[in-house]
Amino acid sequence: MNKELIKELLNLDNVKLVAVSKKHSKEEIDEMARLGVKTFGENRVQEFLEKYDPSYSWHIIGHLQTNKVKYLIGKVDLIESVDSLKLAKEINKQAAKHDVIQNILVELHVSRSDLNKTGLDPKELPELLSQIAEMKNLNLKGLMCIASNTDDRKIIENEFDRMKAWFDTYSRMYPSMDTLSMGMSSDYPVAIEHGSNQIRVGTALFA
Ligand SMILES: *Cc1c(COP(=O)(O)O)cnc(C)c1O
Repeated sequence: MNKELIKELLNLDNVKLVAVSKKHSKEEIDEMARLGVKTFGENRVQEFLEKYDPSYSWHIIGHLQTNKVKYLIGKVDLIESVDSLKLAKEINKQAAKHDVIQNILVELHVSRSDLNKTGLDPKELPELLSQIAEMKNLNLKGLMCIASNTDDRKIIENEFDRMKAWFDTYSRMYPSMDTLSMGMSSDYPVAIEHGSNQIRVGTALFA
């Protein structure tokens, strides 16, 4: 566990740290929590449920199937990976059933890689946001992306800049939007420079 880095990232001004704990044990999560980390990100529902502990805050960051949504409501503070109308509708429906308001981010597909196809086509963003705004049990908190996995800093910067521009535009229309989630172990410094206010870091923290 990289204590120095954990401390550094917890002390960033105006940037929230989500420790991505996928593939790490509950014991490791507890150890990190003792160092001051409060929010953990998991990408698979089954794995999340095995490690769930109500004393921490949890985000779901991976592609989510509609039939798994029902297991998350009431346990997850933020679903970061909403990438379709169908999924938004199901989260809204399950949240209504439990009488809760579910915080969500819309995940956008900005990377050039065809391997990493998760996220909504940005062309569809205005329409999806207007539909989400009508759903009473969803609270739209912002946008999320995974940048291209490349050493070419220009490509990554361009993707983060596009995200920031959409975030600025739509957070004026939808004032509940306050979160721009971008940046992982390999690119969080670039993400912060380009407007991120929430980073999702796994490997570098647990190393
Ligand atoms: C795994 C993962 C991360 C963290 O990646 P690291 O390279 O381990 O920091 C961030 N976001 C998502 C969506 C992930 O799946």
